Amino acid sequence: MSRYLSHRFWGLEPYVPGEQPHNRNYLKLNTNESPFPPAPGVIASISRAEIHRLNLYPDPDSRAVSESVAAHFHLDPNNVLLGNGSDELLSFCFQAFCDAEHPACFPDISYGFYPVFARIFCVPVHIFPLDADFHIHAADYCPAGGTIFIANPNAPTGLTLSLQEIEIILKANPDHVVVVDEAYVDFGAESASMLIRKFKNLVVIQTMSKSRNLAGARIGFALADMELITDLRTMKYSFNPYNLNRLSLAAAAAALRDDEYFQGCIQKIIEARAFITAELEKREFQVLPSLANFILAKPVIPGEIYYLGLKEKGILVRHFQQNRIKDYVRITVGTIDQMQILLDATDQLLKEAG
Ligand code: PMP
Repeated sequence: MSRYLSHRFWGLEPYVPGEQPHNRNYLKLNTNESPFPPAPGVIASISRAEIHRLNLYPDPDSRAVSESVAAHFHLDPNNVLLGNGSDELLSFCFQAFCDAEHPACFPDISYGFYPVFARIFCVPVHIFPLDADFHIHAADYCPAGGTIFIANPNAPTGLTLSLQEIEIILKANPDHVVVVDEAYVDFGAESASMLIRKFKNLVVIQTMSKSRNLAGARIGFALADMELITDLRTMKYSFNPYNLNRLSLAAAAAALRDDEYFQGCIQKIIEARAFITAELEKREFQVLPSLANFILAKPVIPGEIYYLGLKEKGILVRHFQQNRIKDYVRITVGTIDQMQILLDATDQLLKEAG
C-alpha cells in the first residue's frame, strides 16, 4: 500500500479469484469454467472479419449481440445490457442501486465478490445467514430493507430457490431492486428472466462464461425493465463506454447462433454432475444437491487436506477458509473423463489416509 492510496481503501481486502497457475498443467476444476471449447463458429467469426476492424472502436451499445440476447429471451433489446463479464454488471448494480438507505442484502455464504463490491463502493451491508442445510430462506427477505443480491443457483453451494420463491421476494420488496445472479442457471435451474415484464424491480444477470464456454471473452448480460437498464447504462457510459471489445462481441454473436452446441454441452455437464455426485457419495462424501456446473462436497478427510492432496496430484479444486464451509471443497464439473481422473486421485488419497 502506498502512502498515496485514498484512506477509503485502507484495509480493503480485494476479491481473491481462483488460482490460474502457469507453472504446471493442472486439471482445472477450481473456477467453474467449461471443459469444452467455444462453439465451432466462434473461431471462424473472430478471424474472418473482426481482426481487420481492430483499428475502430467497438459499438458502445453492442447492438447486434443485445438483439440476439433479447430474441433468445423474447424481450426487447432495451431490456438488455451487456457487460465485461457479469462481474462488471454486478458492480454497476452496487453503484446504481445501493446507498445508505438501500444497503446491499445478501446471504452469508454466497458469491465472494458481493462484500468486496459493497466495501469498495462504500455501501452498508445486511447479511442473511443460510439455514443449517445451506438453503436461502425466501421469508428472511420479506422484506429485506435494501437492494437484494441472490445468486440462483447460489455459489458455492449450488442450491436453488424456485421461481415462486423469487416471486415472493420480488413482491415483498417493491421499493427495492432485486438482483438475481444467474451465472449458473443454464445447468438445470429456472430463470427469473420470464418475470421481467411483471416486475419493474427485477434485474437478472447471466454470463456466457460458463454454459456458453466463453470465460476468456468476458461477456455477461443484464435483463431488466427498460428503466433499470437505462440506470445501468448510465453507469457503463460513465465508467467505460467501450467495455466490450470487438473480438469478444464477435465471439458472443457466434456462440448465440449455435443453440445446438450450447444445449449439447449443458447436457454433458448435467450427466457428468450426476456421475460425480453418485461416485463421491459411494465414497461417503456429503454432496449438496447442485443444479450448477460445480458441486460442494464434504470429503471424509478434512477439506483442506483433500484440496492440497489433489493439488499435489495435479488437480485443482476450490477450498474456502470461511468457517461453515471449510470442511468442504467446490469441484467444477468437467467431462466424464476428467471426473474419472478426479476419482482415481481421490481413491489414492483415501488409501494413503488409511
Ligand atoms: N456470479 C457468480 C455467482 C459467479 O460465481 C461468477 C463467476 N466467478 C460470476 C458471477 C462472474 O462471472 P463472469 O464475470 O465470468 O461473467
